[in-house]
Amino acid sequence: MSRRGLPFVVSAPSGTGKTTVCRAIVERLPGIAFSVSHTTRLPREGEVDGRHYHFVTRERFDELVSEGAFLEHAEYAGNAYGTSWEAIDTPLLEGQDLLLEVEVQGAAQIRERRDDARFVFLLPPSLAELEQRLRSRGTDSDEAVARRLAIVSQELAAVHGFDYAVVNRDLEEAIAAVAAIIEAERRGETHAVEARHGRAGVVAEWGEALGIAPPGPDGPASGARLPS
Ligand code: 5GP
Repeated sequence: MSRRGLPFVVSAPSGTGKTTVCRAIVERLPGIAFSVSHTTRLPREGEVDGRHYHFVTRERFDELVSEGAFLEHAEYAGNAYGTSWEAIDTPLLEGQDLLLEVEVQGAAQIRERRDDARFVFLLPPSLAELEQRLRSRGTDSDEAVARRLAIVSQELAAVHGFDYAVVNRDLEEAIAAVAAIIEAERRGETHAVEARHGRAGVVAEWGEALGIAPPGPDGPASGARLPS
């Protein structure tokens, strides 16, 4: 029987460089492609319908939700996003690995529903750098940047639900780390990458700076807050 593809879920606070890392992975690693999500957000300049997203109206999105078309879906900064079953089932059956670039609520839904998925969290080196990256991207208004930053603290606390955590201090290093994780998962030999990129290391090293407390015996610490 031919090998089924693996879904790799990548989440990160907005502006962490997730899209750049994911694009580099898909360009450089054979056998992995993006799953194409649905969204109610308007296309940004250069975005192509059916390639970057399926851009749909809120009415159509709600219809798809009620038809059960989505593996996961979530609201993010005033828009709806979702991964359809169709976007992942056929490629995975054909043996294609997939990158699912989703925000953290969607990642949590996928964790509930897909045992085969692997979860990678990207972190920014610092909050100041994150804000600067968001602004320099220039695709969002000041108001949209402020809205996105407000979501960041909740997003960072979600690192506990992920298998791997990679700090994007240096773009090439972050790409190499994610590629190493994917290749190890494909081989089924994850010991070394778990030791190197398992979330425990990041939580221990970066937890205090990012305001993420390590989990207590009963799971993630509640009330994790970013320093203001
Ligand atoms: P953007 O509007 O910048 O393209 O995406 C905003 C956020 O939505 C990002 O964190 C992105 O990863 C996330 N996102 C994109 N597609 C999906 C999806 O299908 N499901 C979920 N839950 N989040 C998504």
